[in-house]
Amino acid sequence: MLLNGIAIYNGYAFGKAFILKEENIIINNDNIDKNQIDNEINNFLKSYKKTLRQLKNIRNLSIKNKDRKLLFDGYILILKDKLFKKDIINLIKNKLLYADTAVNKFINKQIKLIKKVNNIYIKERANDLIDISKRLIYNIKNIELIDFNSLNNNKENIIIISEDLSPSQIVQFNLDIIKGFIIENGSITSHSSIISKSLELVSLIGVNNITNLIKNNDYVIIDGIKGNVYINPDKSIIKIFDKKYNKFISDKKNLLKLRNLNAITFDGYNIKLLANVGNNKDINNIFKYGAEGIGLYRTEFLFMDRNDFPNEEEQFFYYKEAVKLMKDNLVTIRTVDLGGDKFLSYMDFPKEDVPFLGWRSIRIYKDNKQILHTQLRAILRASFFGKIRILFPMIISMEEVYFLKSEIDYIKNNLIKENINFDENIKIGAMIETPSAAIICSHLAEELDFFSIGTNDLTQFVLAVDRNNLKVSYLYNPLCPSIINLIRYIVNTIHEKNKKVGICGELASNLNSIKLLLGLGLDELSMNVSFIPNVKKIIRSSYYSSCKKLLDKILDQKTNKDIEKILNKNLINN
Ligand code: PEP
Ligand code: MG
Repeated sequence: MLLNGIAIYNGYAFGKAFILKEENIIINNDNIDKNQIDNEINNFLKSYKKTLRQLKNIRNLSIKNKDRKLLFDGYILILKDKLFKKDIINLIKNKLLYADTAVNKFINKQIKLIKKVNNIYIKERANDLIDISKRLIYNIKNIELIDFNSLNNNKENIIIISEDLSPSQIVQFNLDIIKGFIIENGSITSHSSIISKSLELVSLIGVNNITNLIKNNDYVIIDGIKGNVYINPDKSIIKIFDKKYNKFISDKKNLLKLRNLNAITFDGYNIKLLANVGNNKDINNIFKYGAEGIGLYRTEFLFMDRNDFPNEEEQFFYYKEAVKLMKDNLVTIRTVDLGGDKFLSYMDFPKEDVPFLGWRSIRIYKDNKQILHTQLRAILRASFFGKIRILFPMIISMEEVYFLKSEIDYIKNNLIKENINFDENIKIGAMIETPSAAIICSHLAEELDFFSIGTNDLTQFVLAVDRNNLKVSYLYNPLCPSIINLIRYIVNTIHEKNKKVGICGELASNLNSIKLLLGLGLDELSMNVSFIPNVKKIIRSSYYSSCKKLLDKILDQKTNKDIEKILNKNLINN
């Protein structure tokens, strides 16, 4: 069977399907008869034992990962609490509840109590309780629960199949075993897709109904170049893809030979190619692919796959390690950009109709100054050891810039008082990713040192098209007249103020757009490193003068289709 979707990370992946399907649980709120009490207590105790056994197994599999091991140790302690078992049994006996209802009621009561405590770390335990109750209820109902850790012992490669995957699920994957994923939903610029690129994980999104069309253990080939999925293909197809895979790997190796060459056009226009990273492991690939520095460090990924906020020392360790690994090259650290589609299991987020326009990013700092202060202290301390710039996301106003700059001054003063070294001339920049920031970029350029255009968000906000909604994804296209004109305005305005501006959204690695981006006069392009060799090849075979002519021609076009036609033609004639 052949299906198709949208490829997120180019390449090929082969393996056995593993279907991730979470059941919708319905809790039975009726009362039981007295003669059912023993049976329900028995059900609960069986599930309790099974849950404990499962958690111990997972804990043992997680021994190499300190954070994960601690998480599961914590779960086991909660479960072993004497009152835990006793109170649930009492609810079954005295309130005549089904076992699952009793678990649900007990856990909800505990969560309510926890949420009253005014301590963010204690509040975070609520999520552990939710997880434990889910396990208990699944086991009462004999529903299989998926643990990524339980896949670790698999001998064969696995392709995960699911309706959707969250960023925090993907960061749990063991990449020695999980070689790719295919989901029904998703979008190119969602953070799940961004992480899968940084993990070099071949993945497809928008594959209709795949969870029903495939069975566990079916053999799957992902063609991440064309966006196809082959389910149980015959031997001849497997052979063809073996060949394609080997060629793909050898082409990739050849392109890597450009590693140490500049990204410069024939007529001398030099653009900086930088890397987008989400953790320090990503840095290993930076020099391999020939990036000149880090243009976007998405620090929120350091906050995921753990069960509490990283403290100042931990963050300092990460950032200092990053600058050391990068030697004297630039490291642009974006302050944590949570909310939208990036949530933490240990932090409460309000239920919002439009989270991308809600309580997210720098807006969270106002209510939780501790998060901002801790991060700024860690970044500033690390700045003493290398070349760091601070980048703020989601700016919409000068008030925010004044607020953030005054917070930096406050932290700097504290560090001076404490005799702690930092780079006093550290550069401060803003993402231009809201229409408002684009419109006021002339003011922003008077107050800040550098800029990075976040085309992922900018496109969704300017076009009023949700970046994560597959239904309207055909409208989500940064290569359209409005975005191109807006980028031209931003670049020209910021250049008039003698400041530099780059792009760090996914547009920077869209091979079709590179000549246009050169024509627009950008100073930097920051992208997932694996795209750098291809982008460099295009730049090194271009003339800046003809890219400017290309821009003029594109600006005359009125429709996306006309723009696409011209860009495609230019890429082929390259
Ligand atoms: C962007 O919006 O273009 C961007 C780079 O930020 P993120 O994708 O993390 O929202
Ligand atoms: Mg953004």
